[in-house]
Amino acid sequence: MADKISLGYTHLSGCTGCTVALADNYAGLLTLLDKYVDLKYMPTLADARHVQKVDVSFVEGSVCINDKLAVEELKETREKSTIVVALGGCACYGNITRFSRGGQQNQPGHEAFLPIGDLIKVDVYIPGCAPTPQMIRNVAVMAYLLLKGTKEQKDLATAFLKPLMTMAQGCEACSCDIMTTVINQGLCMGCGTCAASCPVNAITMEYGKPQLERDLCIKCGACVAQCPRSWFSFDVVENYEAINEAIMAALQ
Ligand code: SF4
Ligand code: SF4
Repeated sequence: MADKISLGYTHLSGCTGCTVALADNYAGLLTLLDKYVDLKYMPTLADARHVQKVDVSFVEGSVCINDKLAVEELKETREKSTIVVALGGCACYGNITRFSRGGQQNQPGHEAFLPIGDLIKVDVYIPGCAPTPQMIRNVAVMAYLLLKGTKEQKDLATAFLKPLMTMAQGCEACSCDIMTTVINQGLCMGCGTCAASCPVNAITMEYGKPQLERDLCIKCGACVAQCPRSWFSFDVVENYEAINEAIMAALQ
């Protein structure tokens, strides 16, 4: 293996569930830190007070446009990172912060929480509230292989990351899509992420299932993009075993 990639972690407004999900990798997190990642900046884990120049930055949480420091930190993260990853529902779509007026950094003056893609260019979205520990780990490994791996590993990493990169370019969908592609297919697991991500409360959870209020839908596509059962890539499915083997081999 070549040398490590440098990683930053910018923490904006949210519930900190994505940090907890990252930590829930337990020994896998230690392997990542030991072999692949040089953690340069992360308020809870790395002893650095300012955003650092890195290969990959994870951003957790949405950004409050009334909070000048948060806006500057986000812009500086973009300037100093080769790849920016929006980690979790709040960074990708505003999620809970959009209708609850803030989570972790809740202050009376904080009124407008935006997904980070509204202010900066984002390269990769990791959906979910919170994303699974395995998903975060797999993206970190694949980012490493994309930047430092052999040609074959780069190809696998590209196949794995492509749907997440496509998601970062925007999604045009409406509540009907989640009904036809997930719920009516029997794929819904009742996680509630779609309801949490909808900016106009067009989705509520009743008896563990999403109920749609179609008249309210503004066709923003957040629920579809955020649903862990909605995104599907033939590239990933066709290369599933090789991708899985590459990740497992990296974590040995
Ligand atoms: S507005 Fe419509 S498309 Fe957007 S999250 Fe809500 S239900 Fe989904
Ligand atoms: S996000 Fe997807 S799986 Fe979760 S409740 Fe909504 S439709 Fe079901």
